[in-house]
Amino acid sequence: MGRRPTGSTRGGLARGGQEGGFKAAFEAEIVAEIETLVGTGTVDDWDFEAIETAARRQAMRVAARAVERLINADTSDCAGATLPCACGQPARYIGRHDKTFGSVLGPLTLSRAYYHCEPCKKGFCPRDHALGLQDGSLSPGVLRMVRYAEFRAAGLCTSTGVVESGCKTAIGTRCKRSGMHWTVAGADAIIAPRCRTLSGRFEDFWERRAQRRVAA
Ligand SMILES: [Zn+2]
Repeated sequence: MGRRPTGSTRGGLARGGQEGGFKAAFEAEIVAEIETLVGTGTVDDWDFEAIETAARRQAMRVAARAVERLINADTSDCAGATLPCACGQPARYIGRHDKTFGSVLGPLTLSRAYYHCEPCKKGFCPRDHALGLQDGSLSPGVLRMVRYAEFRAAGLCTSTGVVESGCKTAIGTRCKRSGMHWTVAGADAIIAPRCRTLSGRFEDFWERRAQRRVAA
């Protein structure tokens, strides 16, 4: 309609050169991590599953930091000294408050403008509402993934106890003994065969490996 956009511009993250620098740095970080995991062995000696898992984890971590940085660079959610509270009274701007949310990319710590209403003795962050984060500490993407009621109705287990005790049995009892220190690659190298053994897939692994050697 020929109307020019008004209001505050998005973000303090400069476009162009600086962003290119961030992108290159993020990419370099992922590549360096993967190269460390791979080590000096030849491709045929890779534990490909461990590399896949670790590479995905690292890529998610870097992506989470990029999203976090972009959101936190935009401080336009501070819309003046007061905002109307639901009660009708003005809520006063207090400052920026940090909160860590669980997201599909992993934890994200967001810095949001916080307003406090004296009559209600309650506060709110407009950005939480804008991003669909007002109901707790999980992102909309995670909430969609954890449709507990739906899963329970289908007879599926939604308790984390099974996974937690699995972690304790598979990883804790092997990697958290007194005085132990691990590199990511070293821990992966121990955990992968241990999980195969505990899952009853140890022989499958060696069979697959033997078949691959024959085929090579
Ligand atoms: Zn109020």
